[in-house]
Amino acid sequence: MFRTAYVNGRYVRHADAAVHVEDRGYQLADGVYEVVELHEGDFIDLTGHLDRLDRSLSELAIAAPMSRLALVAVLREVARRNRIRSGFVYLQVTRGVAPRDHAFPKTPVRPALVVTARPADPAKGDAMAAAGVAAITRPDERWDRVDIKTIGLLPNALAKQAAREAGALEAILVDADGHVTEGASTNVWIVTADGALVTRPADRGILRGITRTTVLKVAAAEGLSVEERRFTVAEALAAREVFLTSAGNLVMPIVTLDGRPIANGAPGSVATRLRAAFRGVAEHVPLQGSNKSA
Ligand code: PMP
Repeated sequence: MFRTAYVNGRYVRHADAAVHVEDRGYQLADGVYEVVELHEGDFIDLTGHLDRLDRSLSELAIAAPMSRLALVAVLREVARRNRIRSGFVYLQVTRGVAPRDHAFPKTPVRPALVVTARPADPAKGDAMAAAGVAAITRPDERWDRVDIKTIGLLPNALAKQAAREAGALEAILVDADGHVTEGASTNVWIVTADGALVTRPADRGILRGITRTTVLKVAAAEGLSVEERRFTVAEALAAREVFLTSAGNLVMPIVTLDGRPIANGAPGSVATRLRAAFRGVAEHVPLQGSNKSA
């Protein structure tokens, strides 16, 4: 079996999947994306991801490439053709192909849609979460509209590479005032020394993570109150717990930050509890369900 990707109306061998050189995504990063987890035959929080996709598209005045129903059918078909029950689907929409010019094409072109999928073993994430992971801090060098999930990820990529080189999983980004914004591809939470669960408000300073939204619901279901406020790196270093959330990591405890242990250097009870309760609260949309139901 070879891997299959969806590119602008066609299912093609992944190895041969390609877009035009004048795709505005390739030339100008003029596009948006989503990553949706598949877990044991279900899409996780699909509605939230597709709602955020609609918002990202509308903020950039890019038309939807197709109806939601048709898009879900493509996501299902890509997962099916790749025989994936647990893993991730990636979808990217760009403004389309047009002669290179910063301004939008005068006559609107069809937005371009690419969908790929890859398998992942959920047990690996669970093992990582049981041990906890390392993070470093980096200055947040991104633009002011990080609430839009654009494919313009160069500052995120540079920060993530710095993390890799430091032997860490994630780079936690810090604004000019010394407050944590979010991770290079995750949202960041702390449990303060007083036991308060804190995460930055989802204003324009961060991406409103779909996992973050579900974890807010998990916390409420667990009877934990959450303070949505900014916090500093010093607060994170003095915290009882620091953890990340994203579709790829669910709830992931950070046990060292810039090489310094968080509390006793082991995953904390709040992160562990939120992770354990996550799948019971998240939306599950069956991969093989009717395309009318999603
Ligand atoms: N922040 C950034 C910058 C991200 O790239 C991501 C992952 N897409 C997140 C937060 C987490 O979002 P989600 O929970 O929707 O995966």
